[in-house]
Amino acid sequence: MNAPRIEINLDKIRHNTRYLVERLAPRGITVTGVTKAVCGHPAIAKAMLDGGAIDLADARIANVKRMRRAGIGCPMLMLRPPMLSQVSLIDECCEISFNTEFGVIAELAAAAQRKNAVHGITLMVEMGDMRDGVLPDDLVDLASRVAITPGVILTGIGANFACLGHIAPSAGAMAQLSSLAMQIESECGVMLETVSGGGSANLPWALGLEKPGRINNLRLGEAILLGVEPVFGNPIDGLYTDAFTLIAEVIESNIKRDTAQQVEPSIPLPVRSILAIGLQDTDLTGIEFPPDFTFIGATSDHTVVESIGCRLQAGSEMDLQVNYSSLMRAMNARDIGQIIRA
Ligand SMILES: *Cc1c(COP(=O)(O)O)cnc(C)c1O
Repeated sequence: MNAPRIEINLDKIRHNTRYLVERLAPRGITVTGVTKAVCGHPAIAKAMLDGGAIDLADARIANVKRMRRAGIGCPMLMLRPPMLSQVSLIDECCEISFNTEFGVIAELAAAAQRKNAVHGITLMVEMGDMRDGVLPDDLVDLASRVAITPGVILTGIGANFACLGHIAPSAGAMAQLSSLAMQIESECGVMLETVSGGGSANLPWALGLEKPGRINNLRLGEAILLGVEPVFGNPIDGLYTDAFTLIAEVIESNIKRDTAQQVEPSIPLPVRSILAIGLQDTDLTGIEFPPDFTFIGATSDHTVVESIGCRLQAGSEMDLQVNYSSLMRAMNARDIGQIIRA
């Protein structure tokens, strides 16, 4: 079979989604499936929907279009605040977008009005990640301006945790998000459909004993795809961590020594195996190699692993486990084949 390739087990993705949906439902929390790490791969997106995700979210228009072309008709959320230069495209393919800038929201509204449509706006609040989000102090004011703008409807508010920073959401931050939601509802006279607490980093909080308050949604990518929570990288009980396997082919496996130096004959020399995969394909620092193999380094097209005494056949294959960063890049790599296992 062709290598390198990534094998995708849809059953495991479906299971992971369903497991999280069923654990969160009693707490009044819905799941949005986040497809950005898999470039909007339609079969994976469908597996998330089959598992009970109520809608899908991505950060790029091209990915959303790919899912639409494959016939996925569910509500789509644009996670990344839209570029001003793309507002009409956003309006065409997403029901809702996450926003922080009134100038962009006004253009989204104008584009929606030209089509006699209404675009949903979820406002992002800064709660410690320091990426996208307006300060809590400025939120109610922005919400009140959105609430009276024709062409858009204020669908909700949301926060990010552990996207840029590594800060896990605290119970205090979640309580603050709840009270901001209630403040907007009373001051702007609107009902917020969605109060989205965050992503996979919120699961320890959401599955814990704390009351969810007004938080009624999480946007989950990493937990569904890889079965881990992002802050510490710990596996989540009940989830598969091996829905994806990256497979690379060995092109050389030889004993290596520094030929410029005399070596002690009694010291066993290491075997270095070279895999035909490199930095152009994925983030090799995020790969877990099989036991007994240590990652030495990678160049654009080669990856070197070392072992003591384990010499591999050229032409044999090695299974690699990916983290989020290596998954994302592997799924976007032109030279990595994708094999679906239903
Ligand atoms: C990527 C992203 C998510 C999903 O995060 P995971 O940690 O993969 O669950 C959620 N919300 C926003 C805004 C994102 O950019």
